[in-house]
Amino acid sequence: MYRDLSTSLRTIMTPGPVEAEPRVLRALSTPILGQFDPEFTNMMNETMEMLRKLFQTNNYWAFPIDGTSRAGIEAVLCSIIEPGDRVLVPIYGRFGHLLTEIAERYDAEVVTMETEWGEVFQPHDVIEEIKKVKPKIVAMVHGETSTGRMQPLKEIGEACRDMDVLFVVDAVASIGGTDVKVDEWKIDACIGGTQKCLSVPSGMAPITFNSRIESILLERKKIERGLADREEDKKRRRPVIRSNYFDLSQLMDYWSPIRLNHHTEATSMLYALREGLRIVLEEGLEERFLRHQLHEKALIKGIKAMGLELFGNAKYKLPVVTCITIPEGIDGEAVLSMLLEDFDIEIASSFGPLKGKIWRIGTMGFSCRKKNILHVLGALEAVLIRHGLKLHAGRAVQAALDVYDNEKCAVETI
Ligand SMILES: *Cc1c(COP(=O)(O)O)cnc(C)c1O
Repeated sequence: MYRDLSTSLRTIMTPGPVEAEPRVLRALSTPILGQFDPEFTNMMNETMEMLRKLFQTNNYWAFPIDGTSRAGIEAVLCSIIEPGDRVLVPIYGRFGHLLTEIAERYDAEVVTMETEWGEVFQPHDVIEEIKKVKPKIVAMVHGETSTGRMQPLKEIGEACRDMDVLFVVDAVASIGGTDVKVDEWKIDACIGGTQKCLSVPSGMAPITFNSRIESILLERKKIERGLADREEDKKRRRPVIRSNYFDLSQLMDYWSPIRLNHHTEATSMLYALREGLRIVLEEGLEERFLRHQLHEKALIKGIKAMGLELFGNAKYKLPVVTCITIPEGIDGEAVLSMLLEDFDIEIASSFGPLKGKIWRIGTMGFSCRKKNILHVLGALEAVLIRHGLKLHAGRAVQAALDVYDNEKCAVETI
């Protein structure tokens, strides 16, 4: 017979999925409501309201796509790309390749530019490329989980707006952990994730988009209904958006007071997202970002005190992912296995050119707390000693404790 469901209580310090907020897990066991029950549609409206705050936007449209984070990316791209549209994707890690692949699947003419993993783009270089390529869309990652870097977006967003280019941003890893200012950075469509800094299980992708995107969607819907303004559009093959599930123009009708049936909303996941957002807003965005910075600092001081080196350009570090160079002669995978088996701690390796070269420690959402930082530093030190590495034993946890003590002094003197 199959045994009862019984999972180990792991300390999850990866870039996702991370430990879920206990309140979110309780919300998941709330009884089901029908999707048109006023109690439920009221929760849909509240979720939209809270998402606007999370994305720091006045956009009307802010709602979750059911599916993992890439469902949000695919929904945005497939709804605005027409075959042959030029899309510029600046790639500085694995998730830039995901944007490229999705855009290509919808027959965009994708132009890429790449920079070394561990670096980001100078906004000037991207803007020059936009002038040369003249794309309809620029699609970019904000927090690149695979390399632990964060791309400054404001200048690029402003340039896109000036040149009437649509700016689509994957903020899956950064949303809820560090500032994502959709309106201020002139982002036209932004995609977040649940299983990272929101500490809600994987399965939904919150998105937001503005009236520039909306007007494209409304135009495409008119074509679908044979109501296009232009003669050549009237003759077009319909439907023009090649996904039913991800058709944002249909999803708009479902997430507006029209409540036109599309899919069956994922009831329990909506409860979970709503609770996760409530927790974020109760903590306060500013306070939450400061908390992520504090624990990042304790972790970094600890890693360095141990004698390990951080990977990547420090100036552009993503605050919620810390990459460590695997020391010479150490088997990275063996260290991960021992951390998991003996200490119940999960940290991550990386992909592509960084495979076998770095470890990545996530400090996201509910996982980002003192107990976890001290636990992971102590365990990593012990495991590395076990693997024969000569390091500054005993210093890592002390260095992190110093950060926490100093922080206490700072708070007490205010
Ligand atoms: C995790 C992640 C994704 C993909 O998320 P899934 O939930 O696995 O689909 C996309 N982009 C970035 C930057 C991510 O960190």
